[in-house]
Amino acid sequence: MEQKQNTDNSLLAEWTGPYGGVPAFDKMKLADLKPAMEKGMALQLAEIDAIANNPAPATFENTIEAMERAGEELNRAFTYYGIWSSNISSPEFRAIQAELAPKISEFSSKISQNEKLFQRIKTVYDNAQKNPLPADQQRVVQLVYEGFAMEGAELDAAAKERYAAINKELSSLYTKFSNNILADEEKYVVYLTKDQLSGLPESFVKASAKAAADRGQEGKYAVTNTRSSMDQFLTYSDERELREQVWNNYYSRADNADEYDNNENIAKILQLRNERVKLMGYDNFAEWRLQNRMAKNPENAMELMNAVWPAALARVTEEVADMQAVADASGKKITIEPWDYRYYAEKVRKQKYDLDSDEVKQYLQLDNLTQALFFTARELFNYDFQPVPEGSVPVFHEDVKVWEVTDKTTGEHIGLWYLDPFARQGKRSGAWASPYRSHTTFDGKETVLASNNSNFIKPAPGEPVLVSWDDATTFFHEFGHALHFLASNVKYPTLNSGVRDYTEFQSQLLERWLSTDKVIDQFLKHHKTGEPMPDELVAKIKKASTFNQGFGTTEFLASALMDMKYHLADPADIDPDKFERETLTTLNMPKEIVMRHRSPHFGHVFSGEGYATGYYGYLWADVLTSDAAEAFEEAPGGFYDKDVAARLVKYLFAPRNSMDPAEAYRLFRGRDAKIDALMRDRGFPVPEPQSRK
Ligand SMILES: [Zn+2]
Repeated sequence: MEQKQNTDNSLLAEWTGPYGGVPAFDKMKLADLKPAMEKGMALQLAEIDAIANNPAPATFENTIEAMERAGEELNRAFTYYGIWSSNISSPEFRAIQAELAPKISEFSSKISQNEKLFQRIKTVYDNAQKNPLPADQQRVVQLVYEGFAMEGAELDAAAKERYAAINKELSSLYTKFSNNILADEEKYVVYLTKDQLSGLPESFVKASAKAAADRGQEGKYAVTNTRSSMDQFLTYSDERELREQVWNNYYSRADNADEYDNNENIAKILQLRNERVKLMGYDNFAEWRLQNRMAKNPENAMELMNAVWPAALARVTEEVADMQAVADASGKKITIEPWDYRYYAEKVRKQKYDLDSDEVKQYLQLDNLTQALFFTARELFNYDFQPVPEGSVPVFHEDVKVWEVTDKTTGEHIGLWYLDPFARQGKRSGAWASPYRSHTTFDGKETVLASNNSNFIKPAPGEPVLVSWDDATTFFHEFGHALHFLASNVKYPTLNSGVRDYTEFQSQLLERWLSTDKVIDQFLKHHKTGEPMPDELVAKIKKASTFNQGFGTTEFLASALMDMKYHLADPADIDPDKFERETLTTLNMPKEIVMRHRSPHFGHVFSGEGYATGYYGYLWADVLTSDAAEAFEEAPGGFYDKDVAARLVKYLFAPRNSMDPAEAYRLFRGRDAKIDALMRDRGFPVPEPQSRK
């Protein structure tokens, strides 16, 4: 087979089979990855060179459109790379990843710093300022031009060289940062014996017995070092010392003064980011980053966070007092510590709202929730979901299931939806959505391949998958991202790009359908009796929705504020450990709460640049979410109002980044968003009218 070696890399091969071609997840071989990525990069660079050296005058077609077309092979290789990185990671993959990271960065720099290419882009851009192109082309030109300018295309040769070197170093640091977290997540597992299970729900006990057996500790119970495992254990376990241990493991990830410690990496990352934006004349990273976000600048983002922070702190004081009273009444001589918060909050929840999270769980079965997603998509988007025939679409793990999405009225094929529901070793924690292929029409119609990925704990054989209300909410959230991919009607790939403080809005809004009557009555059914969730329980959940908002808002905002402050500070001699402590003191951070993501494992911000000075975006998006939800509440048909749903799809989902988000929102709502609905949703006092424009 030697003669075929050069072309026979399945990771680069065109996707074949049904539905416009699908990734060959069943043929993935790790040995192919490095050659595939290297070849893919070489191919794209050759395409880019041809565009840059075209002797014909620069036009939209021969420059921008040609760029939109380039890199097909590499895109395919990247899809597989993403699967290895997020869904089925291994030490072998991580070694390859560490080797590839600087090469990928070098590759990006070669494009973003290609002088001839940039001059052609600039020509097209300048011409388009004089003679505007059709709206979507004009937008692509603007986004491409601004993207290059922001990446240092206008720098002189020496500065460009330094710029590329910085990026290369950063890419290695990002990989190291996230691998250190993963290493500590795998390393610190707490094994319980039978007499240490007090308070834990049956489902957790079963799952942890399995997790222990999977790790060769038959007969014990493993509390793994992931958010959902930690969160459940801290909510229910009566063993205070073990709670402290589990809490410590989780919040010390990559902060253990060993080879996996990330503090030094943070300092280096901040210094390099700062140096890079200074080359382009910006004061700090935050200013550079936010210029093309909906918030526009750090001041606007800080203003929003500062408007909410005092109300959150005031609520924490109330919550701690309530919890202390419960602890006192039980005869326990303790002061509420961070590892007690979830546990006593749960007791207060039961007492104040008589709401038992485990009882709620009995109505939240994964299969039913999946059907609830499909129902919501049908009502709002007119989509129909059907499982693909067994074996017709390759998957990378037997747990992954695939559905075909069609238009309910016309039957038109829209795309596929992949679901990878369960936690496993080598899969990153949390939940996320990613597209394997995005909708475009400029070069023939491409249909969407969207995926959702969760970390539900796989049940023992024959047991239903029961999830918490929070996890069910997240499930809807990630599906919102998938619908955002599926609903795209854009012509060019660049127009599918996300705007960080806007792109969480669509997904956060989708969460609201979980608690609508139609979803509850049809899909939230008791797994044993089949009875829908009783009205009293629904009423309790709704009543309890503002419960613990002090905790939720504070742990989130502490991380968001920290993210912004890190990037506004002078990083020259920064000591992250000290900076974190001092910043929290200045903020009056309550001692009973820890940041949702402490700095050494704040992957959003330091594993890459996606969320750097962007973590506030969840709150920014939540302002839009609450305000948009009120548009449905005020409509005659409520959350299923056909007119509002049509505007939702038309202005907020389908255009993706083909129009300015602020303008799109105005078209949906008839005005800008206001903070009031958000404060009402969290049970916080609504600020005086003059405080926001
Ligand atoms: Zn999201």
